[in-house]
Order: sequence, then C-alpha cells, then structure tokens
Amino acid sequence: MTIFCEQHPTEPAHWTCSDCGSSFCPDCVLKRDAGDYVLGKIIHMCPKCVIPAEWIGAANTIVPFWNRLPKFFTYPLHPIPLLFNIGVCIMLLIASLLPLVKIIFILLLVGSVIKYSFSVLFRTAQGNMKPPSFTAGTVSESLKPVFKLLLLYFIGLIWTVIIIKYTGKAPGTLFWITFENLLLPAMIMILVATESVFHAVNPNLFIRLIFRIGKGYFAMCALLALLGAAPFVLLNLLMKIIPVGFNVFLFAFLLIYYRILSYHLMGYVLLQYNQEVGYEVDYDEFQNMSGNSKPEIPDPEAGLLTQINFMSREGKLDEAITLIKESTNTNDISNIKLSEQYYKLLKMKKMYPQMADHAVSYLHMLVRDKEKKKACDVFLECLSVDKEFTSAPVNIFAVAGWLYETGKVKEAMAAYNRIIKLYPGDNLVPNAYFRIAQIYHDRLMDTAKAKKILNAIIKKFPDHDIVQQAGNYLSTLPG
Ligand SMILES: [Zn+2]
Ligand SMILES: [Zn+2]
Repeated sequence: MTIFCEQHPTEPAHWTCSDCGSSFCPDCVLKRDAGDYVLGKIIHMCPKCVIPAEWIGAANTIVPFWNRLPKFFTYPLHPIPLLFNIGVCIMLLIASLLPLVKIIFILLLVGSVIKYSFSVLFRTAQGNMKPPSFTAGTVSESLKPVFKLLLLYFIGLIWTVIIIKYTGKAPGTLFWITFENLLLPAMIMILVATESVFHAVNPNLFIRLIFRIGKGYFAMCALLALLGAAPFVLLNLLMKIIPVGFNVFLFAFLLIYYRILSYHLMGYVLLQYNQEVGYEVDYDEFQNMSGNSKPEIPDPEAGLLTQINFMSREGKLDEAITLIKESTNTNDISNIKLSEQYYKLLKMKKMYPQMADHAVSYLHMLVRDKEKKKACDVFLECLSVDKEFTSAPVNIFAVAGWLYETGKVKEAMAAYNRIIKLYPGDNLVPNAYFRIAQIYHDRLMDTAKAKKILNAIIKKFPDHDIVQQAGNYLSTLPG
C-alpha cells in the first residue's frame, strides 16, 4: 500500500520520521547539507522534528513490476543489450566452425552472458533502468560470479541426484523443477545482493526472502518459468521454416534475450522489495540513476520555509518568527516565499512596525517578479499601518501603475504624489507628474489641470526624456 505525503495526499511519500511518524514527499522534506566533510551529501530531515528522516524505500515510489511488464520485454531490445546479444550469437556461429577451440570459445561466451546478466540485475536493483554497457572486461574480468552461479546449479544438481538415489526418479525430478523455478531466483537475488554463495544457499535466507516478498515472488517465478519455456516453443515452431545453420543463431539469440529480460525482472523485484528483503539501495543513487528528479541542491532558505510552513500550520507563530529572525538577516531574504511567509506572520501577530520594515525588501521582490496584486496589497497595507511607509521610487512607481490598472485611481494618484514629495530629485519625478496629468484628463475629466501639469513638466524638466511624450500628449488634448 502506498504511503502518501502528509501535506500532499496524492504525492507518494519518500521519507518518514521515526519520531512523529509523519511521511513527506521530496517537496516537504527538509534538505540539509551534511557539511564540508561529506561534500555534496544531503541529509533529509523531518520538517517538524528537525531530525534525520528515513527513506521509505523504492517500493513506495516505483511502479510495481506487474504494472510495467511491457518494459521488461523491451529492455533487452535496447541498443546496448541487443548489440551484445547479436555479437555473442555471431561469435557463437564462428566458434562452431572451429572444431579445436570450440569448447573454450563457447564457455567464454556463456561466461560473458552470465556476467552481463549479473550486471543487469545489479544495476536494476540499484534503481538504474538503463542497461549496462559491456566492454572487453565483461568477458575477461573476474569470472567469479560465473563460477558462483554454476556452483548454485551444481548444489541443486547434487541434491537432485541424492534424492533420486534414495527416493526415486519422480521426487527427484519434482525437486529439480522446484529448485530451478522457485528457489533459484531467490538464491540468485541473494547472490547478487551479498556476493556470497554461502548466503545464497542458506535456506534461512532464501526462504525468508520468498515469504517476505510473498505473492509478488510467486508471480515473478510464474512469469520467469513461462518466459523460460518460450525460446524452446518458438524454435520448435520455426524449425521447419528456417535454414538449419540459422537455428543455432536464433536459439542462442532467444536464450540470451530471455536471460537479460529475466535478470532485469529479478533486479526490479529486488528493488521493489528492497525494504522487505533488507537489500540496501542508496537513496541518492536511486534518485540520480532512475532520473526521477533533478539533483537536489539544498537551499537553506527553502529548507527554512518548509520548517516555517509546518510551524505555522501547527499555530506556532511566535516560534516561527523567532526562527526566521535567528536564521536569517530578515531584510536579506532572497526566497520570495519565505519573505512572504515572514510578512504574513508579522501581520497575523500585528507586529506592524516590523511588518512595514520587512515589507521594504519584500515589496522589492514582488515588483521584480511583477506580482501585481500582492505588491499593491502590501503597499496599501503598510501605508495603512505606517503613514511614513516608503520604498524605492522605482517600486512605488510600478505599484502606482498597477493600482491605476485595477481601478484604484485615488491610491495611484497618492502613490505618484509620494514619489514627488519624498524623492524630489529623482529621475522618475517628471514621469510621476506625467501620469498624474493623464489621470486628471482620463479619469477626473479635468483637462485644464492636466494641461497645466504638462506645461509645467516641459518648462521645469526640459532635458528629461518625458518632455517629448508630454508635448505629444498635450497636442492631443482638446481646446
Ligand atoms: Zn518528525
Ligand atoms: Zn508533500
């Protein structure tokens, strides 16, 4: 059952807090840099308790394997495994023509297929859905996993022989079928996870793994058995219509295709149930490899915001305000959301002088981001609590324009006048006069007053850019 984020009921949770039991999506979890000693390492924390949170595991966020069956079938057809498969088949054909070294050649090729499928399993289990590339090393490098796998088969074979010897052929055959189809997949998964044959053949481990995964495991085995039979069935059907020499090639191709597919599937099951099985998947690697999200860069202010949001929801307003003051130089906050939250908190707590003080930098960001409505609201709110409230002329000028757009003519006029009164030497003063003239004519039907102002602009600021515009406007006015 999927666990969802406490704040986003449709987002699967990635993290859970062992202390308060809440679960969070990547947007809600608090991200902190682990510090200089582990460069680039990020710690994920519970935004409520501010202690490290635990990863819920891949199962909660990945598609269950039975819902992505077509993808398992296309995996071996990805260019890399496809090329590998065809390459091995061609070499196999060549080897079959060299009577003397045939056996060695074939063993090497089988070994490379086993090695490649192991790396498919391992990679998939780590959350990486891109097939591994192969190099000359794939064949020549350590053949240990090959021997380990053969050892597993060998152990199964010995047991079968023993059972046949003491109880007869039927129980022995039954044992082999059970071994190959039901036990071996679990053993292989343990072998890849632990790299130890000793662990892989330990019934205490593989039986436990089977029961931990439960129904999903048996579904996987059924699928593997079905697919395992497919190459033989297919070949039987095609035998009559294809040339004999091509038989070997096709059969080998189908076997390798099946092998890559099944190891990819086993790897995926291991990933999906990594928590149940106790197989460790590194979260950062999982995220990076599966391309689930962009690399996370912890932004201290974004982290703080997450924390503040949780505190606000729980009504801890004073604590939230204190935390912001302690963690930032409040007028240098660059995260607009955090700035907004701080402004709102101060407003809710009716801390008006501090609210107006913070609004200076907040309003600056609102104007920069063209947040018209919010900028107007903040400007008017601050003026209502503090008649002396002011901001840089350029900000007031922008807000005045937006106020006018939304029909707040009186407020817009007051804002333009504010620039003229408080910043008489500013370059925007003539522009403010010009806007006032426009308002007089367009809105207040006082053309005479508009003309008076326009003439004054031309006379008083002859070198300013606005003069030409003022002249043009003046010429359109009647009378
Ligand atoms: Zn917690
Ligand atoms: Zn969330």
